[in-house]
Amino acid sequence: MQVYKKQSDLLKKTESLIDSRFPGFGINKKQETVRLVYEISKKESTSPENVIKDIALFDFEKIKQHLLKKRYPHAYLHNYLSRPYLPKIALDKGSVLEIKKTRFYPKKIFIEKSAWRSTLADRFRKSFPKAEHSEIKSFKDYLKIHRNSSLKDYNNRRETAFITYENHDFFKRCPCTKKAVGCGYNIFNLSFGCIFECTYCYLQEYTNSPGIIFPSNLDRFFNIFSSHKRPGMRIGTGEFSDSLMLDDITEYSKPIVDFFRKHNDIRFEFKTKSDNIKNLLNVPHAGNIVISWSLNPQKIIDKNEFLTAPLNKRLKSASECIKAGYKAAFHFDPVIYFNGWRREYKKVVDLLFESVRPEDIAWISIGTLRFNPKVKQVIESRFPGNRILDGELLRGFDNKLRYLCVIRRDIYKYMLGLLSRHSKKIPAYLCMEDISMWREMNLRPVAIL
Ligand code: SF4
Repeated sequence: MQVYKKQSDLLKKTESLIDSRFPGFGINKKQETVRLVYEISKKESTSPENVIKDIALFDFEKIKQHLLKKRYPHAYLHNYLSRPYLPKIALDKGSVLEIKKTRFYPKKIFIEKSAWRSTLADRFRKSFPKAEHSEIKSFKDYLKIHRNSSLKDYNNRRETAFITYENHDFFKRCPCTKKAVGCGYNIFNLSFGCIFECTYCYLQEYTNSPGIIFPSNLDRFFNIFSSHKRPGMRIGTGEFSDSLMLDDITEYSKPIVDFFRKHNDIRFEFKTKSDNIKNLLNVPHAGNIVISWSLNPQKIIDKNEFLTAPLNKRLKSASECIKAGYKAAFHFDPVIYFNGWRREYKKVVDLLFESVRPEDIAWISIGTLRFNPKVKQVIESRFPGNRILDGELLRGFDNKLRYLCVIRRDIYKYMLGLLSRHSKKIPAYLCMEDISMWREMNLRPVAIL
């Protein structure tokens, strides 16, 4: 709460300064000026008075241009400031997330009637005997009355789990993002919600579920898979959740490996930030199963990927899975731009190749930080004082907030260069980028199998 107090004091100070300095500004002009002064002050660790000390102007547009130049120096230089995103600052004590490094242990477990006797419901009963286990008619009905409506509710989602019987929505094509080149990924829609807390996670703004959802009927997924199957397909869990976050309890990985072993023209991917690999090591491996880890420098993990496994454990898990016969993949996603990013990401790439041989890597993706504009205020509220919003994030080709094209280009070139020093044969692709960026990086926009 100390961080919240500091940010809230900074905001109050900024608001009163702008009120007294520019009394003629209406609500919108005041809001934009406050945001710009607050963000510069936070980013540069300086007082709001210092930020506006050189301003001897009273014309709003001129003041705004002056502040935009300070807040977004690269964008200003590249003439890319036509649509800055300057919503009201969202600080709210009740929405701040307090990170508790405790094991996931839901207080309430709601089980759909049709899943009450399932093996998964039994596993939850055994793993969480102190939780309240209740039968519900359906998750859909429950949601009509108990919708997750605030960030406080979202912060508490780890206290509630739902065991469901899935009837539809088994498989989806990854929607990617508007105007971007897709990587041909398909989603095996297992679980919704995550026990980890990443500052940049899109689920914070996307979900209205008051808990984490676990389907109990994997057999039904398998039964209808043949009608979705396409040879060469790449499919995986981990789009609306983390694939292995609770695998010790759900044991989803065991039947999945068993099932996809028989479909060796398909590549199945488990995507994770965890080191929960015991079950994978205890089932006979299958060469078409890929276990992938998202990688970031440890200092980024410490401040942005709360409750996840540290980098060294992710890499150790990768090496153990490879020894057990699986292929590994890695996602440098999201790459975060900060002072010293080159040095830190180089360390990660070097560590990666110290742990894993290039021939054991199925693919590597690179994506830069991006999110729906609404997520900006969610991050501000849940993680006040965070540093990722200090970057120059502006509306990009898909209307998401992203770094400027020149910065992204620099990141991709650098990262691809680092990777090619170790091997030129690993398939690499960009996540959620447009065709011009793929071409500039000499990457062919084809499915990566
Ligand atoms: S691991 Fe993935 S799904 Fe989970 S909080 Fe982080 S970004 Fe979101």
